[in-house]
Amino acid sequence: MQNTRLQTPIDYLKGVGPSRAEVLRKELGISTYQDLINLFPNRYIDRTRFYKIAQLQPSKAEVQIVGQITGFKELGQKRGKRLVATFRDETGFIELVWFRGHKWLREQLKTHTDYVIFGKLNLFNGVFSMPHPDIELKTDYDKSLSKAIQPIYPSTEKLANRGISNRVICKIMEQLFLQFNGRFEETLSSDILEHQKLISKSEALVNIHFPKSQKLLSLSQFRLKFEELFYIQLQLILKNIIHKSKLKGYRFDTVGSYFNTFYKSHLPFELTNAQKRVLKEIRIDMGSNAQMNRLLQGDVGSGKTIVALMSMFIAIDNNFQAALMAPTEILAFQHYNGLKPFCDAIGVKIALLTGSSKTAARRIIHEDLVSGALQIIVGTHALLEDKVQFKNLGLAIIDEQHRFGVAQRSKLWKKNEAPPHILVMTATPIPRTLAMSVYGDLDISVIDELPAGRKPIKTVHRYDSNRLKVIGFIRDEIAKGRQIYIVYPLINESETLDFKDLMDGYASIVRDFPMPNYHVSIVHGQMKPADKEFEMQRFVKGETQIMVATTVIEVGVNVPNASVMIIESAERFGLSQLHQLRGRVGRGSEQSYCILMTSHKLGENSKTRMETMVNSSDGFEIAEVDLRLRGPGDMMGTQQSGVLDLKIANIVKDKDILSLARHWAKKVLGSDPKLTNPKHQPIAQTYIKMGKYKNIWNYIS
Ligand code: ADP
Ligand code: MG
Repeated sequence: MQNTRLQTPIDYLKGVGPSRAEVLRKELGISTYQDLINLFPNRYIDRTRFYKIAQLQPSKAEVQIVGQITGFKELGQKRGKRLVATFRDETGFIELVWFRGHKWLREQLKTHTDYVIFGKLNLFNGVFSMPHPDIELKTDYDKSLSKAIQPIYPSTEKLANRGISNRVICKIMEQLFLQFNGRFEETLSSDILEHQKLISKSEALVNIHFPKSQKLLSLSQFRLKFEELFYIQLQLILKNIIHKSKLKGYRFDTVGSYFNTFYKSHLPFELTNAQKRVLKEIRIDMGSNAQMNRLLQGDVGSGKTIVALMSMFIAIDNNFQAALMAPTEILAFQHYNGLKPFCDAIGVKIALLTGSSKTAARRIIHEDLVSGALQIIVGTHALLEDKVQFKNLGLAIIDEQHRFGVAQRSKLWKKNEAPPHILVMTATPIPRTLAMSVYGDLDISVIDELPAGRKPIKTVHRYDSNRLKVIGFIRDEIAKGRQIYIVYPLINESETLDFKDLMDGYASIVRDFPMPNYHVSIVHGQMKPADKEFEMQRFVKGETQIMVATTVIEVGVNVPNASVMIIESAERFGLSQLHQLRGRVGRGSEQSYCILMTSHKLGENSKTRMETMVNSSDGFEIAEVDLRLRGPGDMMGTQQSGVLDLKIANIVKDKDILSLARHWAKKVLGSDPKLTNPKHQPIAQTYIKMGKYKNIWNYIS
């Protein structure tokens, strides 16, 4: 019965009514009792402590005093006009000051009656005053549930303007709790409650809104955070389980001659242990009856491409086709060029399809995909067009996945009777906590080891005033036969100002490195794809020694002879982007360098970013710092995932609770995947309710 009562529209709550309900709905998204209960305070003010006036010290903190008003006076003219009340306790007096609402206040406030006031103090001519105090009759204060530690709820300007103050929210909340007698259904099973020593749902809700003590408040917060994260994890893990049991995948049970021939005779290097492990995970996935839905994380340069290629060979060994989709033409082209020689060597047919493929070539590719003559297709978004149909697509690999939306991924998937196996590769290391909440329903493989023999990239931070030295360094490196990247922050390619910076930079580089001894390439987003490609190729072939570019080269470009990455205005880049850019060098056997150029004026945050880059080369470590600095809001993937809709938990600050919640979700589902065990009844109930009343996130699976 209570379940349904919690779904009552907020309009019906005493003290709310249609017009307040409307504002609550619009401003805070509160439409039901349940929503209101889940409106958790942002912070709390400790009102357990009372001060005597004689003890007051000048300070920024809020103070609370009991006393009486002994008289009023109106001072000042026009805009300076103010109402001043003398407020006394047995030890002294202060002044209460209002600049607005005088008439109403004079009518409402009684003299010689006990009030509790609360607010910040000013000290003027030896007298303390409190502007616009929070003021409440002592008798009301004593009755109110929220007297000790006072919750401060999220608010908006509109709410405040419509008179829905924090006080009003507290009152409405009180009303709601009275209606339910402060009793709410338990939503966790008793074994979890007991093992984790969690307080009950009712106790937690009461104390989150009306904390009786700091201790109970923290216990409540812990319990509610745990619960929130637990249900997210439960949902993700359940999705994964259901996915595996429902979605029959193609079963690739043979590892045949393509794979084996390549492995024995054409693999140009020994695989790292991490690559071997990941390949094995992929083979097991594709060899089972379920559809693979796997995320492959590996830092830049960790060698994801070869893993992708060998996975595609497994598909082909089982008479299926494979597709590799990249976010940019440059990258698609590079993949194609890199993979073609291997495919040729073992007789696999591969083609490239991008936006700039010619109509005639395109038609042939379309036909060959339908007939099955083509075994591997590499491409960009062009692969998603409806015209592109397959004979039997068995494996779809998506490189640098954060550039593709969820909808696009599922589009690839619809090209078949049954979904192909999906492998999503990303070079942006995702902090574990984020991965758990954003990709908790995917299986995750990690290549956490770089191929042997790589020298760590030396990273330094230089101010613009050191530019001459940097130029000298570039000259020396070029003399040794190396190539150089210089990257400008054209984050939004249409920004004219940034564009001017880039062009000025290019001009001055050309001045410093003139022809015929030097050749400089330039690549940016406003160029035609063919021109970009042409310039890229000049650099790849070593015809130019310097590549001036925007972040278009950020993703995946591979020129092993390039050993210096210079990042201009590095303070304007985010950490993950800096790390990505740095990953363009250090791909050959030579010592590589990354130089972060900044102006002298750096904020705290920028300093931290530069220091992190200089001190760490571990993508996961950098990602953790990034997450801490930016919060999950700006991290890729989070928009789709709902981690931002968290009501009380914070995946950065509460990562320990997150791990605990995941542990329990796994444990519960491990023993009882259908949640039919009576002891899991509260969990099953809550889970069903969540699905019924809430629009839970849309996932690919
Ligand atoms: P990413 O993971 O960034 O996509 P790539 O797949 O482009 O990395 O690999 C980076 C470079 O490392 C390529 O030149 C590739 O040929 C090389 N490489 C990959 N695996 C190994 C290995 N096991 N041993 C030596 N070199 C490797
Ligand atoms: Mg790559």
